[in-house]
Amino acid sequence: LTSSTTGERLHVIHIAAEMAPVAKVGGLGDVVSGLSKALQKKGHLVEIVLPKYDCMRYDVVRDLKALDVPVESYFDGRLFKNKIWVGTVEGLPVYFIEPHHPSKFFWRGQFYGEQDDFKRFSFFSRAALELILQAGKKPDIIHCHDWQTAFVAPLYWDLYVPKGLNSARICFTCHNFEYQGTAPASDLASCGLDVYHLNRPDRMQDHSANDRVNPVKGAIVFSNIVTTVSPSYAQEVRTAEGGQGLHAVLHSHSKKFAGILNGIDTEAWNPATDPFLKVQYNSNDIEGKAENKEALRRHLGMSSASIRQPLVACITRLVPQKGVHLIRHAIYRTLELGGQFVLLGSSPREFEDIANYFKSHEHARLILKYDESLSHLIYAASDMFIIPSIFEPCGLTQMIAMRYGSIPIARKTGGLNDSVFDVDDDTIPVQYRNGFTFLTSDEQAFNNALERAFHHYKNDADGWKQLVEKDMSIDFSWDSSSALYEELYAKSVARARAANRT
Ligand code: ADP
Repeated sequence: LTSSTTGERLHVIHIAAEMAPVAKVGGLGDVVSGLSKALQKKGHLVEIVLPKYDCMRYDVVRDLKALDVPVESYFDGRLFKNKIWVGTVEGLPVYFIEPHHPSKFFWRGQFYGEQDDFKRFSFFSRAALELILQAGKKPDIIHCHDWQTAFVAPLYWDLYVPKGLNSARICFTCHNFEYQGTAPASDLASCGLDVYHLNRPDRMQDHSANDRVNPVKGAIVFSNIVTTVSPSYAQEVRTAEGGQGLHAVLHSHSKKFAGILNGIDTEAWNPATDPFLKVQYNSNDIEGKAENKEALRRHLGMSSASIRQPLVACITRLVPQKGVHLIRHAIYRTLELGGQFVLLGSSPREFEDIANYFKSHEHARLILKYDESLSHLIYAASDMFIIPSIFEPCGLTQMIAMRYGSIPIARKTGGLNDSVFDVDDDTIPVQYRNGFTFLTSDEQAFNNALERAFHHYKNDADGWKQLVEKDMSIDFSWDSSSALYEELYAKSVARARAANRT
């Protein structure tokens, strides 16, 4: 145990739709478990409430058992029983809610993407609060995430404080403002919220229409603490251009709004112990990187003629947010510059043509699937890593790449702007410079960064080695980020206590 920075042991309950590795779709899952583990290590009591999905990974839950007493929760004018399961996931206590509702809300073979997602997750948000109330828990902080559990904030103040669950402050984290879960205002009534009272411009009404509600907006209005996943993204979403319609409400609630950069799981992502690598290595001995490069090239059937030929990589979901036009362009430009390129990309449709084109190319390979183990080898094998996102709330791949000694080439946006600093930028203190950046999302700007990276790599082997060693030593663990959450929690709890005394 490390000690809590604020000296007080807090009871924190996360209510979320994802938690890695038991139920993970994206970054949200990583944050819930990464932040929880770090807070637990600091001595806080952390619990997590999740839906009990049929498709989650039961093999990573220890001691899963059902509680004797079901929890009844309200939905659509009736009470429904929920079977409550408890288990341990990577040392964290987790409650799983299994609704006995005829629609079998979490028995659908997938986490999201059902036409009744709004219903399923508003049901879950209410059932989770009901569980906390009926179990007699008195948390200091209830932390909800993204639109799926944003309902928790208005439900708590409007329905659960009157029932006596009033110990908590509410923290809401938005991991990507692109997803807001808007729906017809009348849908809000299912979970017992008062449509008339909430469908107002200063509460949950969406900016697009006066008969639609927006759960993310509701959580911004009704939470005590609102965070997003990097300081730069927190600035961007306050502007009309980046706010996805929520800039005005974020502006008026800016006092409680902060951006905290995510960490990465430094145990899962550790080149010194990574079982997926051909050879393990560390920042004091990076020889192993070359062997991994050789192994990847052989595995993918690419040319291994020159170990000094730079290998550029990209691992991503291939969605517009990630700058797909620049990823496509990067493949051709890398080859023109004499490098090799490997892309591991999911949601691939539009890349199938060029993947075929490069099928037996000596110097490029496009692998269009999700492949966890291959991703580890690619991080280890590559010399450079591109992240040309149009917007990026935080981004994890630049941090993972650095931990494996692959130098990031990133667009200056969101969390990339807070974690990648240009080697050639004299305005940045030398010790922070760790990669190559560009500002605008056009080919010319990207070329400039890529060409500078190639220049350094080819003309200054010693300097490059030092850069690799330096990037591998940067601390991207949750230790420092979790301390910032801890501080926000503690301040909010202290304010509530002070207010109760007066
Ligand atoms: P996002 O959450 O928007 O997808 P992040 O950069 O926050 O982007 O997180 C991406 C995570 O998913 C990283 O851990 C990355 O290694 C992994 N990943 C993305 N695409 C793939 C893929 N095709 N195969 C394996 N892992 C992938």
